[in-house]
Amino acid sequence: MATFSKKISKIGVYTSGGDAPGMNAAIRAVVRVGIAQKLEVFGIHSGYIGMVDNIIQPLQLRDMANVIQRGGTILKTARSTEFMKPEGRAKAAANLKAAGIDALVCIGGDGSFRGAHALWEEHQIPVVGVPGTIDNDIYGSDKTIGFDTAVNTALEAIDRIRDTAASHDRLFIVEVMGRNSGFIASHVGLAGGAEEIFTPDGLTTVEKAIDHIKEGIARGKTSSILITAEGQKPGRAYDLADSIRKKSGMDAKVSILGHQQRGGSPTAADRILASRMGAAAVDSLLKGQCDIMIGTEGERLVTVPLDLVTKTEKKTQIDLISLANLLAT
Ligand code: ATP
Repeated sequence: MATFSKKISKIGVYTSGGDAPGMNAAIRAVVRVGIAQKLEVFGIHSGYIGMVDNIIQPLQLRDMANVIQRGGTILKTARSTEFMKPEGRAKAAANLKAAGIDALVCIGGDGSFRGAHALWEEHQIPVVGVPGTIDNDIYGSDKTIGFDTAVNTALEAIDRIRDTAASHDRLFIVEVMGRNSGFIASHVGLAGGAEEIFTPDGLTTVEKAIDHIKEGIARGKTSSILITAEGQKPGRAYDLADSIRKKSGMDAKVSILGHQQRGGSPTAADRILASRMGAAAVDSLLKGQCDIMIGTEGERLVTVPLDLVTKTEKKTQIDLISLANLLAT
């Protein structure tokens, strides 16, 4: 963990990368804890785009009314190519310095944290990260803000699909989000009683899934649900259905859940997580700590160096997939 000695009076908060339900609850916590600690708090719009283009506004207590239950992010989020270059970061740092902003809270994923780490390394602007992504793929935190909501949204859809699958004795392949990460797929698969779960790491094969389905049919099962993470290309479920048809003759219906998993009112778990993490981020800055992310280990909040967070891969929980296989008999 890095430390700094400058007394802070103005902090900025921004959301960056993909939006996630609960980001607003985190912003609210940063603003209200910051103001309670006699800090001035500024909202930076659209992540690093607002930092580079100087779209920075003061936030007051009342600006946070009625935001805790709202999905998305009131500060907007974006991806900035300009900020990827040293000149873009220099422009952003100059804007922050001109606005008198002493320190930042970054709510986002690992790409956003790479940017935050660069701001500290290159311009000595202290940043504390708060993990906000539906993918839960951030090393150093058991849970990220938005993951619980996304899992529950997908689960609700799968329960509905199960009704129609059971009524028509059908095989369904449901595609959930997760380009590089299998956390939504493994959690939704276990909670939704899926026969097989395909994650981007390719642990499960089509042959294995076919064997599972056939074993189920032999035991009297008439409908099955397979879950797949989208992987590199949304629509992977269609490729799987094709492959299953070619290799076994079985016909599979496909349902791609898509962006609905990103939206919606955050669950209680995400609101609580976001509120605790947002508050802890401000506390860390007040203690002179930076270049860290607030994470969770079980119920406990922890701090993890950003460099470690961005350089380490968080592995999919294979045990959840094995358990889902075992239970879907
Ligand atoms: P999600 O996991 O939801 O995609 P993320 O934070 O990982 O969120 P990215 O698109 O990877 O999303 O990153 C968000 C922004 O962070 C980028 O658009 C870019 O401006 C900045 N960023 C990413 N990587 C770096 C880097 N290596 N150096 C500087 N800035 C970066």
